[in-house]
Amino acid sequence: MSQWTPSPFPVPGDIGEILITGEQIVDRVAAIGRQIAHDFRGEVPMVVGVLKGSVIFVADLIRAIDGPVQLDFLAVSSYGDQTKSTGVVRIIKDLDHEVTDRHVIIVEDIVDSGLTLRYLIEYMNARRPASVRTCTLLLREGDHTDDLDIDYVGFDIPPAFVVGYGLDAAQNYRNLGYIAEYTGS
Ligand code: 5GP
Repeated sequence: MSQWTPSPFPVPGDIGEILITGEQIVDRVAAIGRQIAHDFRGEVPMVVGVLKGSVIFVADLIRAIDGPVQLDFLAVSSYGDQTKSTGVVRIIKDLDHEVTDRHVIIVEDIVDSGLTLRYLIEYMNARRPASVRTCTLLLREGDHTDDLDIDYVGFDIPPAFVVGYGLDAAQNYRNLGYIAEYTGS
């Protein structure tokens, strides 16, 4: 009988420099959670996580908010399994709940060109919420997001394609507890 040999994890050569450690993430998520709890005192915001990349962040973030929140998800596709954007945003899973008259916080994993977030803000505003705020774990450095005023930002990161803490490369490496440069092909 042939023996199954698991491939090494991470695959050699796939993971480069660790840009943000698990400890840094814990501290920053706690601080954003405190800020949101403060900003929404007396309200019940609807936190909308953008699947799948934000799922780990949003799970930690809502537990860092000391106050009532509700949670919904939507899924968009702009990258497919590529590491370059196709430039087209598509909703592939809609909200389960009405957001009319609700305070909405859109939670992204990373904002790069801002295309996805700009689209989602417009999409949300069309549903006549009481307010829309935006939150991203990572903001890629560059001047392409100048028109986007993101309310809660975890970390600024350099131009490298990154994985971990929810972010993937062709569906892999979402389970890393840190953010690292992806150096695979
Ligand atoms: P934008 O629309 O702002 O250009 O891109 C945002 C989306 O692109 C993110 O929600 C994420 O899905 C994907 N993305 C952009 N940069 C990266 C990256 O470095 N790593 C991963 N895994 N996804 C990225």
